[in-house]
Amino acid sequence: MKYNRILLKLSGESLMGDKNFGIDPSRLQQYADEIKKVKEMGVEIAIVIGGGNIFRGVQAEKSGIDRVQGDYMGMLATLINAMALQSALEQNGMYTRLMSGIKIESVCEPFIRRRAIRHLEKGRIVIFGAGIGNPYFTTDSTAALRAIEIEGDVVLKGTRVDGVYTADPEKDPTATKYEQITFSEVYEKNLNVMDMTAFTLCQENNLPIIVFDMNKTGNLSKLVLGEQIGTLITDKS
Ligand code: UDP
Repeated sequence: MKYNRILLKLSGESLMGDKNFGIDPSRLQQYADEIKKVKEMGVEIAIVIGGGNIFRGVQAEKSGIDRVQGDYMGMLATLINAMALQSALEQNGMYTRLMSGIKIESVCEPFIRRRAIRHLEKGRIVIFGAGIGNPYFTTDSTAALRAIEIEGDVVLKGTRVDGVYTADPEKDPTATKYEQITFSEVYEKNLNVMDMTAFTLCQENNLPIIVFDMNKTGNLSKLVLGEQIGTLITDKS
């Protein structure tokens, strides 16, 4: 196995599946199946999930809601997704803990770094909900920060695109995919991997990122076994 402790980042939008809003139960089940395969290989798994399918802070300003208030609403949205994912994982026989960046004691534990690591060592899947708990951040930044805190081996950013391209493949048909790229090349070429806060955190702490297509069955397990899937971003060329 190439990675023993992973931080899987799932976007809220991917949970919508073919719907325009909310959570698609078949997508949730698909993710639970993929995560279970990796769990059975003995990998320690932490998950950060976004909230874009429900609410985004930037969107609040357009409706006259204060930005900070909107960001907190976004964080609560991630918690709704995290609870749905927790339930799906448990229904599929996995042990989980939900840790939140905002205190919501009746529903989940507060994030305590040492406790999170202990859960992972005991084989529980840890989901980090409510982002970092601060406005002006994203769940990508949460993924980077928590991965560093729990001493994860890699951030696996599951998206609907299968890696990092020279240009947006949905707009430019001549765009080609990178199999591997360095952090500085991503900066130089101004490629879109994660927001800059998240990206810089990974670079400064030598934490590799893999961008991959989470919707393709088997990709997550192949990645963990070290197969070349998606795009690997490291400090080594
Ligand atoms: N958010 C925040 N602080 C955090 C994490 C998230 O304020 O630490 C808010 C922010 O408004 C963001 C929203 O929660 O727009 C939903 O998260 P994100 O947009 O990262 O979700 P994704 O795009 O991955 O679905």
